[in-house]
Amino acid sequence: MAVAVVPPKKRSQQTLVSKRWVFLFDEVEQVEESLGGSWDKVRALLGGKGSGLFDMTRAGVPVPPGLTITTEACNAYLANGGKFPENMWDQVLEALKEVEKKAGKKFNDVENPLLVSVRSGAKFSMPGMMDTVLNLGMNDTIAESMVKLTGDERFVYDAYRRLVQMFGSVVMGIADEPFEEYLTSVKRARGVKSDVELNADDWKEITAEFKIIYRAEAGEEFSQDPYHQLELAVEAVFKSWNGKRAIDYRNAANIPHDLGTAVNIQTMVFGNMGEGSGTGVAFTRNPATGEKKLFGDFLMNAQGEDVVAGIRTPVPIAGLEKENPAVYEQFVDIASKLEHHYRNMQDVEFTIERGKLWMLQTRDGKRTARAAVRIAVEMAQEEVINREEAVLRVTPQNVIQLLHPQFDDLAKAAAKKNGRLIGTGVNASPGAAVGVAAFDADLAEKWGKAKRAVIMVRPETKPDDVHGMLASSGILTSHGGATSHAAVVARQFGVPCVCGAEALNIDVRNRVLTVGDLTVREGDTLSVDGSTGEVFVGEIERIEPNFSKETYLIKLLSWADTFRRLGVYANADYPVDARRAREYGAEGVGLCRTEHMFFQEERLPIVQAMILSEAGSEEETRNLEKLLVFQHDDFYGIFKAMDGQPVIIRLLDPPLHEFMPDHEQLALRAAGLRLMGDRPNELTRVEELMHAVEGLKEFNPMLGLRGCRLGIERPALTAMQVRAIFEAACQLQKEGIQVHPEIMVAVTNHENEVKIMRELIEKVATEVMTRTGETVVYKIGTMIELPRAAIIADKMAEYSEFFSFGTNDLTQTTYGISRDDAEGKFLLDYVERGLLPSNPFQILDEEGVGYLIKLAVERGRKVRPELEVGICGEHGGEPNSIAFCHRAGLNYVSCSPFRVPVARLAAAHAALKG
Ligand code: ADP
Ligand code: MG
Ligand code: MG
Repeated sequence: MAVAVVPPKKRSQQTLVSKRWVFLFDEVEQVEESLGGSWDKVRALLGGKGSGLFDMTRAGVPVPPGLTITTEACNAYLANGGKFPENMWDQVLEALKEVEKKAGKKFNDVENPLLVSVRSGAKFSMPGMMDTVLNLGMNDTIAESMVKLTGDERFVYDAYRRLVQMFGSVVMGIADEPFEEYLTSVKRARGVKSDVELNADDWKEITAEFKIIYRAEAGEEFSQDPYHQLELAVEAVFKSWNGKRAIDYRNAANIPHDLGTAVNIQTMVFGNMGEGSGTGVAFTRNPATGEKKLFGDFLMNAQGEDVVAGIRTPVPIAGLEKENPAVYEQFVDIASKLEHHYRNMQDVEFTIERGKLWMLQTRDGKRTARAAVRIAVEMAQEEVINREEAVLRVTPQNVIQLLHPQFDDLAKAAAKKNGRLIGTGVNASPGAAVGVAAFDADLAEKWGKAKRAVIMVRPETKPDDVHGMLASSGILTSHGGATSHAAVVARQFGVPCVCGAEALNIDVRNRVLTVGDLTVREGDTLSVDGSTGEVFVGEIERIEPNFSKETYLIKLLSWADTFRRLGVYANADYPVDARRAREYGAEGVGLCRTEHMFFQEERLPIVQAMILSEAGSEEETRNLEKLLVFQHDDFYGIFKAMDGQPVIIRLLDPPLHEFMPDHEQLALRAAGLRLMGDRPNELTRVEELMHAVEGLKEFNPMLGLRGCRLGIERPALTAMQVRAIFEAACQLQKEGIQVHPEIMVAVTNHENEVKIMRELIEKVATEVMTRTGETVVYKIGTMIELPRAAIIADKMAEYSEFFSFGTNDLTQTTYGISRDDAEGKFLLDYVERGLLPSNPFQILDEEGVGYLIKLAVERGRKVRPELEVGICGEHGGEPNSIAFCHRAGLNYVSCSPFRVPVARLAAAHAALKG
């Protein structure tokens, strides 16, 4: 094979511009510059953890010095079939010399040894990547000299045994069990419970035994060459990029496979150097409530992830203030520095080595919905961010979560009295959850998928449990604190969680939870209050949230209101809905469904009698007069509640048979009466009713005699409704309350339908106003809920002052799909199979239904530029659909009162994102 000869000149040039695979933590400027100032590219090159370390170093935060091998090196290694790219290792050694200078210690040096951690870190934080190895660079000789240097034999062998185990498990793939089992046996033999109680001799012995375990499991000695240790660790990080867990995660999270991971090699700082040292994790603000106060846990005389591992019960960070005020002071200072630098709440890892604080990691902290809102508002008030950003940082999902139901205090108090409170733990993720206990993740997932509300119950959770946690309504653990795995994941996904409920005995093997003599079996119901940490057996009743107490949300939404262009109305049928809608910030009623008023118990018989009477008959009039009284009061109540805001009232919409009793029921009853034969009058009545119901029966009631068709066929009914509206309006105006009714005609297809209804409405309205001497400013408009109406919107606009898109029906009629028949059956299957991108009854179908909406807006406004256009289907409260409504130039969206806050935020997002 011919060997390509590289001319000498070219070769030297190559070395000159030789690619940099390695950077020092203080070289952030160089990296950034070489990547054209793009921080995203810096993150891609150095990984999330690495770029964070570089950035913290730049911000003047104390970070132990170190170096990062780039993700490009990882990719080159993998592409090379497992060979370090040219020059990479030389660059590592060169950079390590610089790190040694900064640290004032030397790697592989007996006199003054430098130990390092080897940490992986891809662009996006992802489970499955190699775990960190701490204390790398130790061997028997170095350990002995460290004992002399530090005078702390206990510390040295604690560090050494950790290295042997971590290196063994992470780099060589040895299981943790043999190490843990041995450690437990030593503790048992010494009669101690926790690691801190073991002394220097113990750790020395343990280290020796760990090396024996290592040799047995790995088939070779634990390497005494620090450089060899380093090389193996770096390779292991590179390889972990293509490990199965990492690939699975990337597939699930849609992360590309060609990013690679960086390797961070960092000077060790020691939290296990006695009582003046420690380690911990903290949030710069409370991640559950958002309160501006350091929040987290720490352990004195501990290392690495001891805090999260639940080996000892950590101390809340507030304890640091007492224990070591100087360090706490440093911490407060650094927290504020970090927050100003990142302009966000941070989640940090730190270590205190003999009274000096070091930061080891920072990232934007995960938080609950409640915390997200408060932090956004307070950061804007502190002028760290502006109001637009504050509004954009809170997601509609946050608002939905915040307004979730809570447990009823009274029901809770009663349950306590009855001894149903079985334990209290850490209130790790707020919310009220009721469900059946499941003792493992797979079962939790299975039941969750079968639409069963589940509380996943575990001593603690691990990354492998996440699928079950996501399918659960609540999570309960007996170990771990507010920063444990369960707590962090639960907060991130808004699942209520109580953790560290120590009193509960969770026996996963036998699938029971015991406390005292009480036993909770798998499948039994539990109630978990993630806001207070309480755990109950059985179900506790839940109540709606109290919006008026959500002061931060109210403030945030008031800012959102200044950014949005869309109005936000509510669909409200009763005065109580209207009042709630206003409290939640609605600016009008976009849909008042009058038929709901007809369904009320005392009214239904009158409605039925009215339907059975002949159109235009005296009986019809008599029954309508009775209904008029009710309707008057309904409208009076709603108008009053809305106090001058527009109220859009839809005249009777559903097919009449909906008001009638069920035919089969009547038939059964008639048969019974015939059999008895003693109540002939009753029998006649029932038979007549049956007959009437038969007469009203339609093959396709949704496409039958309904909406304006009914209003036209039964003009007296329309007249009664209009009269009720105007009499109520005139009365209120006399009482000094302005009223703006907008009367809406439903299910229209042809402009003549609107025309004829308009004439009728205007006639009655004028009559009432003349009689009362009041002038009510009102509008008449139509719903657009049939494709034809949308297409001839210009003609519709001639008789309509407003349009309201009834997108539930418009979606049904555009698709030709009956929602009630489809959702439970093929529609969701369609979505799951990817046939449809989403359920069009949930998220507005922009391509089809949305096209009709845009067309109708355009054609309608051509004829009537001031035409008011809104949406009153359920899509009016759905964030994606709201963004569409904004773009389509609608004037307002109208949704259920509970969704008004979400809609206000979503409308602001739509405006701010443009
Ligand atoms: P993870 O991505 O799992 O959080 P990390 O690399 O952040 O892994 O490290 C695991 C633990 O070791 C953390 O508690 C971290 O703070 C600690 N740690 C990492 N590097 C050092 C170091 N150089 N000195 C002291 N502790 C360290
Ligand atoms: Mg970890
Ligand atoms: Mg970390």
